[in-house]
Amino acid sequence: MPILDVAVIGGGLAGAAACLALGQAGRGQETAWFGPDQDPGDRIGESLPSTARPLLDRLGLSDCVEAGHRPANATFTAWGRDALVERNAIVQLRGPGWVLDRPGFERDVIARAEVLIERHRVPILKATVEDGLWVLTPEHGPILRARALVDATGRAATFARGLGAFRRDDRMSVAYAFPPHRDPEVDPTPATLIEAVADGWWYAALLPDQRLSLAYFSDPDLMPRGLSRDLGAWRDLVGGSRHVARWIEDAGFALEIPPHVGSAGTTWLDPPAGVHLGAAWMAIGDAAAAFDPLSSHGMTTALWSGVRVAETVMPWLAKGEIAALLAYAATVKRGVETFRTERAALYGREQRFADRPFWERRTGGPGGPDASAPETEYNRAKPLET
Ligand SMILES: Cc1cc2nc3c(=O)[nH]c(=O)nc-3n(C[C@H](O)[C@H](O)[C@H](O)COP(=O)(O)OP(=O)(O)OC[C@H]3O[C@@H](n4cnc5c(N)ncnc54)[C@H](O)[C@@H]3O)c2cc1C
Repeated sequence: MPILDVAVIGGGLAGAAACLALGQAGRGQETAWFGPDQDPGDRIGESLPSTARPLLDRLGLSDCVEAGHRPANATFTAWGRDALVERNAIVQLRGPGWVLDRPGFERDVIARAEVLIERHRVPILKATVEDGLWVLTPEHGPILRARALVDATGRAATFARGLGAFRRDDRMSVAYAFPPHRDPEVDPTPATLIEAVADGWWYAALLPDQRLSLAYFSDPDLMPRGLSRDLGAWRDLVGGSRHVARWIEDAGFALEIPPHVGSAGTTWLDPPAGVHLGAAWMAIGDAAAAFDPLSSHGMTTALWSGVRVAETVMPWLAKGEIAALLAYAATVKRGVETFRTERAALYGREQRFADRPFWERRTGGPGGPDASAPETEYNRAKPLET
């Protein structure tokens, strides 16, 4: 088999964005893409901020957010106070973001990338370096050699973990479900609602298909046990909220099955790119940095880092230059630092539960992961976001 320039591993948004960028840069012939088919099904995570717009334009994906999705015009928050406060998109300079049909959006982006680069629908089982080349073993088919490896395998960072140090500073988990709308008498409000509670926070958004995307974020030791099998416990948990419970009841959403439970913590690789035994590597998307979903950074990071693949690996392939790899690593590192500062400030704005473990852990209270982080000017100065 010929030696390829780049192997992209991962068939999510980051892998697809990388293949789009490489294909658009004319590197399609020298790139191999591995991403097994998966049913994105009812994947949670549909909120795409308007800051993604330039990336969508850059990748030729702007029309992928037009039909079948809805503008995120209104977000209501009860964070730091009991009352709900509305943040209207009219006051946002870039206009509203989107509440996506997430599986549909992901399918469209992957299909666009497949026009440029064939996707091999098999997982890679092993990646090693021999004589300065990546040697990749797929589940089926021939072994492949490539000069640069792009790890887009999501939070697992299957291949880059160990090349960069894996960091984690919280263990947040999520319970989520998609209650259907059952009351024909009521038209549910197209809105997003975020509500802080004693042991975590709630997120609820009306999806384009009129179901509710409903998620509760907390820490594993603070979540009710056996929640994914216990509809009664899920209903009790929802009932413990104030605004979310009222919205569900008043608008006629039905809690009919228990939630899925998964992880949603903040993790990153340090560094997320480099040269290993003479072969270049880059982690992108969640494999490079996975953020607390409060940020809604995930899809934007996947698209941004995918775009960066072409400009980062090309100088290495052309002249063996590592400057672009180092610059990418430094940018991701700065992004993670900025995010952690902003996160501490955001969680710090919720003072009603300041002595509860979930909130202490995120604001530098006793035993919290940020316990050593000094208070910064930024922390003190940033006004409440409403
Ligand atoms: C609860 C929750 C809510 C979220 N909400 C939002 C939100 O509202 N807005 C937002 O922007 N982001 C949100 N996110 C984050 C967002 O979903 C992710 O950041 C984004 O999906 C990352 O894309 P990715 O391509 O890096 O990883 P993934 O989507 O995880 O894709 C990884 C891919 O790699 C493949 N793979 C794995 N191993 C191998 C292998 N060995 N060989 C080949 N392929 C492999 C997998 O099959 C998969 O297709 C949320 C996340 C969570 C957990």
